[in-house]
Amino acid sequence: MLEITTASPEETKALGERLGQLLQPGDILCLQGDLGAGKTLMAKGIALGLDIAEEEVTSPTFTLINEYQGRLPFYHMDVYRLDDPEAMYDLGLEEYFYDQGVTLVEWADKLGEFIPQEALFIDILVLSGESRKITLRPQGQRYQGLLKELK
Ligand code: ADP
Ligand code: MG
Repeated sequence: MLEITTASPEETKALGERLGQLLQPGDILCLQGDLGAGKTLMAKGIALGLDIAEEEVTSPTFTLINEYQGRLPFYHMDVYRLDDPEAMYDLGLEEYFYDQGVTLVEWADKLGEFIPQEALFIDILVLSGESRKITLRPQGQRYQGLLKELK
């Protein structure tokens, strides 16, 4: 586990960019945190690290998923509006987890029992003002290695 406190949006984005640079085909990132915590901002940083222009990246709140092509394909999901985890299967969203791109899910807890077993879990907590506590929890060997590289 790794806990990092960021003091500004720029710092959170920079952390995302550094993480994005380390990502490999098939990697999965599960993000949690209240509305406005910084999940989408972190996703923008990760996109930067995958050589995707930040301005291209918009919140997939209404589309559920946005796809980008950078150094690797980047699948950016926001499943807040998914009221039933089963709907994920109906929509075919779980197939992205088996793809050779990078998949990032905002509000991953909404996936319930369908949440990936192996992933890097990232929780963003609003401390106060522009301060955020970002907790990175690796589940599985790949993500333990990834976190070591990030450190
Ligand atoms: P979410 O996707 O979690 O709902 P967003 O990334 O869309 O949140 O929005 C986060 C908001 O919080 C942005 O307006 C951002 O500028 C602001 N913010 C302030 N401080 C930080 C920080 N340290 N890290 C991330 N975002 C921050
Ligand atoms: Mg968001």
